[in-house]
Amino acid sequence: MEVSFYQRHHPKSESAYMESCLSSDLKTDGFFMKRLTDVCASLYPGSNPLFTPSCTLALEMAMDCLDLHNGDEVILPSFNFPSAANAIIRQGGTPVLCDISPDTQNISVLDAENRITARTKAIVAVHYAGVACPMEALMHLSGQAGLCLIEDAAQAMGAYYREIPLGTIAEMGTISFHHTKNLTCGEGGLFLTYRDDYAFRASCYRLHGTDRTAYINGEIDRYTWQMPGSCTALSEPCAAVLASQFEALEEITARRRDILSRYQERLEPLERRGIAMRMKIPDYARTNGHIYYLRYENPRQCEMVREHLTCHGIEAKTHYVPLHISPMGQKLGYHKNDLRQSLACYETLLRLPIHTGLSDSDVDWICEQTIAISNNEK
Ligand SMILES: *Cc1c(COP(=O)(O)O)cnc(C)c1O
Repeated sequence: MEVSFYQRHHPKSESAYMESCLSSDLKTDGFFMKRLTDVCASLYPGSNPLFTPSCTLALEMAMDCLDLHNGDEVILPSFNFPSAANAIIRQGGTPVLCDISPDTQNISVLDAENRITARTKAIVAVHYAGVACPMEALMHLSGQAGLCLIEDAAQAMGAYYREIPLGTIAEMGTISFHHTKNLTCGEGGLFLTYRDDYAFRASCYRLHGTDRTAYINGEIDRYTWQMPGSCTALSEPCAAVLASQFEALEEITARRRDILSRYQERLEPLERRGIAMRMKIPDYARTNGHIYYLRYENPRQCEMVREHLTCHGIEAKTHYVPLHISPMGQKLGYHKNDLRQSLACYETLLRLPIHTGLSDSDVDWICEQTIAISNNEK
C-alpha cells in the first residue's frame, strides 16, 4: 500500500467553472473573482479580501502597508517558511527571528517580547498547522508596545481562535492556496485587513500602484497612479478553481478534523509510554486539520521512524529548516544554538499524511505502523 502525503480535493463544480471561465475574456477581477470576494465577505465580514497569486505576495502587501524604512525591525518565528522574512527584507525592513513554544510550535510570546527594541514595527504570528497562536497575549503585547500584529494564516483557512476565523483577528492577515494547503488553486493567496487605510494601500499595490479597484467598482471614472506598486492580482482561471474549492470548504475541513482526531486517539499509547508527544491543541484553538504531527524524544528516533514509514509506503515528513540555521540566517548573523526550541522542533517533529483522500482504515494502518516502529526504536 502507498499513502501519499498530499492529495488535493476535487470539488464537483470544478470542471464546469473552468469551462465557463475559459469562454470568458479572462478579465482581471472578473466574474469568478467577484464570486470569491462575495463568499469571502460573508465568511469574513469587514475584512476587505484581496486575492493574490500567493500568500508570499499578500505578505509583501502587508509589509508595504507598514512603510518600513532602513533597518525597521519585524519580529517573526524562526521555525517558519521564508515568505514573511523575504517580504520584510524586500520592503526595506530587518527580520528579527524569535523562538517558539515547544507545545504548539507557535511563536513564543515571551521570547518575542524580549526582542522588542526602539526599531521594532511589527510582529508576525504564524498559526502553525492551522492551530491558533495565543492571540489575546499577542494582541496585548503588540497593543502595549504600539506594534502592528500580522497573522501569517497561510495554513489556517477554516481554522479559528475561539469563534473568530484566523487571519481576521490582527490588523492584517494572509492565507495561502498553494497546492499543499487545505484549499488550493495551484498557487494563490489572500490578504485581509479591517483597516480601511491598509485596504486602500494594498489594493493600489495589487493593481500597479493605481486606484483601479475603485474604478472597477464604478466609484471613479478614471484611475491614476497613486503610489509605488506591483501587479499581484490572482488571475481569473485560478479564481474559477478557487471558487469551486471554497464551496467544499466545510466538507474538506470536517474530514481533515476527523482524521486529526483519529490520529490523536490511536496514537495515545506513544505519549503514554513516553515515546512521542502528540499535537497539542489549546482550548482556544479550533484547528482545520491542516497538518498532523508527532514530536519524538530525540532526533535519531524521529529519523528512524520516518525511514521505516517510507519503506512501508507511507510518506512522512519533517518540516522547516529553521530560518536562523539556514545560509541566509547565518548571513543575518544568527548562530545554531540561538533559538533552541526551533532547532529541537526541526530535529524531532514528524508529519504524517493528512488529506481528504485518506480513509479511516488508511489512518488506522498508518497508526499501527507508526506505533510498531516507534516501539522498536525506543
Ligand atoms: C505555505 C506557506 C507560505 C507560502 O505560501 P505561498 O502561497 O506559497 O506563497 C508562507 N508561510 C507559511 C507559514 C506557509 O505555510
